[in-house]
Amino acid sequence: MSYRGVYVDGTWRTGDGEPVRVLDPSDEGVIADIASASPEQVDAALAAARRAAPGWARTPAGERGRLLRRMADVIHAHSELLARTLVREVGKRASEAAGEVAFAESFLRYNAEWDLRLEGEILPGDVPGEQVQLLRVPLGVVAAICPWNFPLAVLCRKLGPALVTGNTVVVKPSEVTPVGTVELFRLFDEELDIPAGVLNLVVGGPDAGRRIVESGEADLVTFTGHRETGKAVMAAASRNLTRVSLELGGKAPAIVWRDADLDRTVPAILEARHTNCGQVCTSAERVLVHRDVLDEFTERYVDAVRAMRLGDPAGGADLGPLVSQAQLDKVEAAVAAAVQEGAKVLTGGRRPAGDGFASGYWYEPTVFGDVSPRMRIMREETFGPVTPIVGFDDLAHALSVANDSRYGLSAYVFSKDYSTVMRTVDELEFGEIYVNRTLGESVHAHHAGWKESGMGGEDGKWGVLRYTQIKTAYHRFA
Ligand code: NAD
Repeated sequence: MSYRGVYVDGTWRTGDGEPVRVLDPSDEGVIADIASASPEQVDAALAAARRAAPGWARTPAGERGRLLRRMADVIHAHSELLARTLVREVGKRASEAAGEVAFAESFLRYNAEWDLRLEGEILPGDVPGEQVQLLRVPLGVVAAICPWNFPLAVLCRKLGPALVTGNTVVVKPSEVTPVGTVELFRLFDEELDIPAGVLNLVVGGPDAGRRIVESGEADLVTFTGHRETGKAVMAAASRNLTRVSLELGGKAPAIVWRDADLDRTVPAILEARHTNCGQVCTSAERVLVHRDVLDEFTERYVDAVRAMRLGDPAGGADLGPLVSQAQLDKVEAAVAAAVQEGAKVLTGGRRPAGDGFASGYWYEPTVFGDVSPRMRIMREETFGPVTPIVGFDDLAHALSVANDSRYGLSAYVFSKDYSTVMRTVDELEFGEIYVNRTLGESVHAHHAGWKESGMGGEDGKWGVLRYTQIKTAYHRFA
């Protein structure tokens, strides 16, 4: 199937750049060829967004909120089509794809409610006869650079707050999974009357992303992706002092205290590790278990992993493929390094054999024992269905291992003891902590990585305010 990958000023154009080929990760079949945006087309998208910015900023907030609600309605009406697209291009299981589409819709609905709720402040002046206004105003042009693992949810997480606060947007989806985003733009274009230039799309790879960031034409680059790419984005943005918001990777520890209810803990960690085939920024990437229950936990967890069925993500399988050859290579390299460093494969540790796995990016869910916190498998984001399990002696030990990381996005703790949970939450150096539950954040909370997991943060009140700036006006009336 061929798509046009450039939507600028309310008009579809064929990209003048290199073609982007999108493959089905289940069997490597070609899903789409999309001609990507040329550098000039990227510039045109930014220019269109710039021209549209003053008009959109002046559009009454209630109208902006109404547009977001209509965008959410479009997603709702076409949720099956969008979910099918995610199954095909990301390799997500059908239920996970449906969940992502619903999540995307909820970002728009939640942010729509901010239309008449954004508030400024009026302060008394520090001289007689003066008042000071602090007004919340849009930034101008927002560039949204997205990853492949949650193409529609991450997109709407950015579109919602950007548009409701009066910014115009240029979107660059990942070159690995751009089809869902193109489909969504097609639906918006066909069914809604979005003012020209308010919403623009450029399909392309890292070059298109670099062009956006280096141009200095965006007032905010909101980027979600890999830690090292985030550093490159920040370095390039610094040349023009372009604001950045960086939502990067993670290496979430899951701490299992000796009193944890294993009937709930094992399934919770299993899900937190294997959702989206382990390719979630908040995935439980390393499991730390109190030595009193290490053997029991490990046995139960390994049994649960062995029971997982790998297979067609559109069917009832528990685990689909990884997204790409590059991701499969990365996971294989991480497993090989762990073995070489002395970790013991308790299950998995290879590509599956047999019917249905001859092509595609399949990997068996893998569990490691005999792990030490210094190993690479405990330190670098794996982003695949691989669980290293390590024992700890006391809480201080668990916390020091958990916090000894460049990452600081999310963490998990499992315990029935109130003081253990409170101390753990207090001392963990992570932006998002799940207590006695699996992964999954809420649109009205806050999702923000600490340390090298990011800078900025999305969702909820603090996420929406990130898309605004404050204009101060001193009113002398006497
Ligand atoms: P990536 O960094 O490879 O790519 C992300 C996007 O950046 C893509 O659109 C890519 O084309 C673009 N890009 C690449 N190089 C660029 C450059 N130099 N300048 C500008 N843009 C550039 O990341 P990915 O592999 O697509 O995504 C996986 C990563 O994203 C993982 O590390 C994951 O943890 C992270 N992630 C984080 C969150 C979060 O909310 N914190 C959410 C989802 C994914």
